[in-house]
Amino acid sequence: MINSNLEIAQVGNPILRQQAQYVTNISDEKLQQFIDTLLTTAMDAKGVGIAAPQLSQSYRLFIVCSHPNPRYPDAPLMEPTVMINPRLLSHSQERVKGWEGCLSVPGIRGLVPRYQTITVEYLDRYGKLHQQELTDFIARIFQHELDHLNGILFIDRVENKEDLVYNQQEK
Ligand code: ZN
Repeated sequence: MINSNLEIAQVGNPILRQQAQYVTNISDEKLQQFIDTLLTTAMDAKGVGIAAPQLSQSYRLFIVCSHPNPRYPDAPLMEPTVMINPRLLSHSQERVKGWEGCLSVPGIRGLVPRYQTITVEYLDRYGKLHQQELTDFIARIFQHELDHLNGILFIDRVENKEDLVYNQQEK
């Protein structure tokens, strides 16, 4: 059984470089338990998002849970949102650079260009389809987490080596 003390996969772990699989049976009890584990882990780690591959489950599934914290003091507060089989439907032309970190890449932050506004689609944990427009920091989290499902890390998106910094205090 999946417990809530699972280690977060760290950069170098091949699971973080895989294409995650589409979720086909949302009502599966093990999957629902895993969603609870993801939610708990995101909260314990004070993360603003976490993707299934980070807990070594190669599913197309992540949590977006923006809240202000020391790493992101200006982050908007939202209800933790489970997004299953998420898709990016359209995006603004404009991209903006902003600081990102990742629970799987401890101690490193990077300035990452992301689309400012995106329209997305996903299923919630009850199988209901949602379409939503996301902007700014929430849009950034979505793009960061969607990358995880495609084996991409934020360090791959940084355009200059000056945009990557080491911060010893961060986990
Ligand atoms: Zn991440």
